[in-house]
Amino acid sequence: MFQIKDKQKFVTIVFIVVVLLIAGVLFLAFELQKEKDSPMQYAVARVSIDGANVEYINLTLQEDGVIDLKPKYHVPVQLQIKNHAICFHNVTCPDKICEKAGYLKKDMDMAVCMPNKTVVRVELMSKQEWEKQKH
Ligand SMILES: [Zn+2]
Repeated sequence: MFQIKDKQKFVTIVFIVVVLLIAGVLFLAFELQKEKDSPMQYAVARVSIDGANVEYINLTLQEDGVIDLKPKYHVPVQLQIKNHAICFHNVTCPDKICEKAGYLKKDMDMAVCMPNKTVVRVELMSKQEWEKQKH
C-alpha cells in the first residue's frame, strides 16, 4: 500500500516539475520575443534653462523624489518625480502655469515656466542614446 502511495507521489512531483519547466521555457520565449518586438526605450525629461540643456532625467529609471534646481542653476524651481512622471513643483513664479501643466511622461509632453525660463520636455531615447547622453 505504502509503495503505491509513494509512486503516486513521485508521479505527481514529476508532473509538477515538467509543467513548471514548460511554463519557464514559454515565459522565456515570450520575454525574448517582447524584447525583439520593442527595443527598450527610456522616457527622458530634458530640462533646459534659458535655452541651454542642463539636465537629463531618466524617468524610466528615476525613483520618486524631488529635484531642486535652485542650488545648481539659481532658478526657484523644483521638479517632482512620481511614478515615472515629472512635474513642476514648488515654483516661485506669479502665474503657476508650469505647475498646472501637471505630470509629464509621454514622448513630446512639455511644460514651460516662462518667468524662470525653464522648460521640461519628455522624449524617448533608446538605451544607446541614453548612454551617450549621460556623458
Ligand atoms: Zn512657473
